[in-house]
Amino acid sequence: MRIKQRGVLFVVLVHLLFAALAAGQTKREINFPDILGYKTLKCDLHMHTVFSDGMVWPTVRVDEAWREGLDVISITDHIEYQPHKQDIPTNHNRPYDIALGRARERNILLIRGAEITRETPPGHFNAIFLQDVNPLDTEELTDAMKAADKQDAFIFWNHPGWKPEHKGWFDIHTTLYENKWMRGIGVANGDTYYPEAHQWALEKNLTMMGNSDIHQPALERETSPENHRTMILVFVREKSVPALKDALVEGRTAVWLGNQLIGKRKYLRAIFKKSVEISKPYRSYKGTVWVEIKNHSDIDIEIGRVGKQGPGTLTLAANATTIFKTKVDEAAEEAELSYVVRNFRIAPDKGLPVSLKIDLK
Ligand SMILES: [Zn+2]
Ligand SMILES: [Zn+2]
Repeated sequence: MRIKQRGVLFVVLVHLLFAALAAGQTKREINFPDILGYKTLKCDLHMHTVFSDGMVWPTVRVDEAWREGLDVISITDHIEYQPHKQDIPTNHNRPYDIALGRARERNILLIRGAEITRETPPGHFNAIFLQDVNPLDTEELTDAMKAADKQDAFIFWNHPGWKPEHKGWFDIHTTLYENKWMRGIGVANGDTYYPEAHQWALEKNLTMMGNSDIHQPALERETSPENHRTMILVFVREKSVPALKDALVEGRTAVWLGNQLIGKRKYLRAIFKKSVEISKPYRSYKGTVWVEIKNHSDIDIEIGRVGKQGPGTLTLAANATTIFKTKVDEAAEEAELSYVVRNFRIAPDKGLPVSLKIDLK
C-alpha cells in the first residue's frame, strides 16, 4: 500500500471511529412476538442499587436495561436491609426519583417499587406501582402489606425456594394470598427455577414472575439464548403503567429463564405459533420431503417427537432456519407432526404439546 493510500485510510478510520462514538451506545433487540392482540413487553421488576445492598447508582440500572433491550424496570431496594446507610442515608423513594429522568430519555417505563424483606418464612416480597415507599417501613409485615395495598400495589413473593431449610407454603402465605396482598410468585429468580412455586402459581392462579434480582453491575457482554438476564414477558394492551398493572393482575406473563420459557399454556402456545414459520416442503422422492422451519424468536426451541413422523429431536435455533427430512403419506394434502416443546414449560415436568403442519398440496 502506498503512503498516500495509507493516509486516506487513516483519515477514513478516524472518521468512522468518531462517527461511532457520536452515534452513542446501541441497544439490543429482544425478539419475542406480540401475541393474541397484546404487545409483548420485556420487563425486569426486581433489582437493587446502592440504596440497599446493590453496587450501582440508580441511573446505571436504566442504562443497563436499555442496552439489554428491556422495556420496563422496577428498582426494588430492600426497605429493611440498608447496609450502605452510613454512606447513603436511608431514603426509600430516592432510587426511583433519581432514575426517572434517565428512564424517560431512554423510553423505559420505570415503576416505583420496593422489597419488603423478612426472614423466611415468610420471606421477601416486592411491592410495585407504589406512590410512596415510606409507609411500608413498618415493624409488622401485615402493616407493610396493608400500606402497599392502600396504594393499590401489585405484590409478589420473590424467591420462594431461597432458603431450603425454611422452604414451603406457611399459614402467613395463606393470609397474604387470601387478602389478595400477594398476587404473584417468582417461579424463577436470578438463574434459579422454583418448581414448587410454579406448581403453586398454577394451583392458586398466581401471576408467574421471574426477574434478575441483580445486585452487581450488569457487564457489557453479548447476550445469547442461554446467557441473558432473567426477565418476564408481559402481554399488554399498550405500553403504559395502567396497562402493565392490568396484565400483571390478570396473569398475562411468561418467564424467560436461560433457555426456557415458563408460563401458561395459552401464552406459550401463542409465542410458539408466532415464532415458527414452516416452509412449503421440497418433495425429493416417493414420500420423502425436505422442510425448512424458521424461528423468529430469541430462544432456541427444543422439540421432541411424540407422533410417528418427523425426526426424533430437533433444535430450532434462535433467529435462524432449520431444515429436516421426513417421510409423509404420499397421497395426503397435509402432514401433521406431533411434538413437545421441551423447553417451553407449562408445568414443572411438562413441555408444550404442538403440531407442525406441513402443506403437501
Ligand atoms: Zn430478596
Ligand atoms: Zn432482591
